[in-house]
Amino acid sequence: MTKINLLDLTYDRLEAFVVETLGEPRFRTQQIWRWIWQQDARGFEEMTNLSKDLRMRLPLISYVRWPEVVDLQRSQDGTVKFLLSLEDGRLIETVLIPSVQGRYTQCLSTQVGCAMACTFCNTGLMGFERNMTHGEILGQILVGRRYLADNGLADLRNLVFMGMGEPLNNLDNLMDALRSMNNNLGLKISWRRATVSTVGLPKQLDILGKSELALPAISLHAPTQELREQIMPKAARVPLDELLACLDRFPLRPRERITFEYLLLGGVNDSLEHAKQLARLLGQRRCKVNLIAYNATENDPYRSPDPDQVIRFEKLLWDKGMTATIRRSMGADIKAACGQLKAGKGK
Ligand code: SF4
Repeated sequence: MTKINLLDLTYDRLEAFVVETLGEPRFRTQQIWRWIWQQDARGFEEMTNLSKDLRMRLPLISYVRWPEVVDLQRSQDGTVKFLLSLEDGRLIETVLIPSVQGRYTQCLSTQVGCAMACTFCNTGLMGFERNMTHGEILGQILVGRRYLADNGLADLRNLVFMGMGEPLNNLDNLMDALRSMNNNLGLKISWRRATVSTVGLPKQLDILGKSELALPAISLHAPTQELREQIMPKAARVPLDELLACLDRFPLRPRERITFEYLLLGGVNDSLEHAKQLARLLGQRRCKVNLIAYNATENDPYRSPDPDQVIRFEKLLWDKGMTATIRRSMGADIKAACGQLKAGKGK
């Protein structure tokens, strides 16, 4: 019998395992779930409120394995990037980013590599290897939270599914992970604190919208279909008008809005004409635009935008009645910034 990593089970599946496989009463589910997701237990001997017999039987058919930290880099700005090894030896990255009041945001990966091949993105260059499991997605949070606790740092506040991979191409595991995160007996992270970054896949966005599990941030990066086809050819297979129509039906509560991410690539999409096109495209929608200046390093296909141009771009959007912010690029010195994740030691 193949042993199961208990991190891979949702609460319901853990309950089925407890009742049907172990023949134990239902309440054991809560106890095990708490040990795993609240107490950081990785060995059954630690689970002292389980019977001795159960503690002996559990390791025969199951185990608890976190992604293993194989490398860790700290940026001067406080950003921490982890290189994690999964059970099959594949590597992924997750990043802790300091935000206001000493709180942290964690950027999570959902796939090993990515099939979308956006031209500015290092993960895209890797190609797609496989989807990450429920346990691998949430295991990143266990690693990040433990690091913060061990180093006396503040709490993990927000989660952004913006690391390696296109989250909506791993929709089932993503939604299971979002549901498990919300569980009050476990990680207890409200969906309001989670953002799913996507290039915009309408069918999956409709499902995410109905689930009310998280709000999306759309990686737009171009104000016209033509330019998007150049920068993100695979994502642009969904025409912009179709994407916007899908977002227009995304259920929003009062005061919620859709975020559009716009990576400014020097000389490519950063002119004032592009800003005007962007304002026209998004019009009066309930949205905000996050501008991110591309962080070019050697051999990169694009160059960084002129810092003054970034400010002019932002100002024009405000002048057109839009809400726009320039997102400070964090962790660039350790290649932890947007589009730089690649999962290789010392990269
Ligand atoms: S930007 Fe996102 S969707 Fe595009 S290749 Fe990179 S990881 Fe994939």
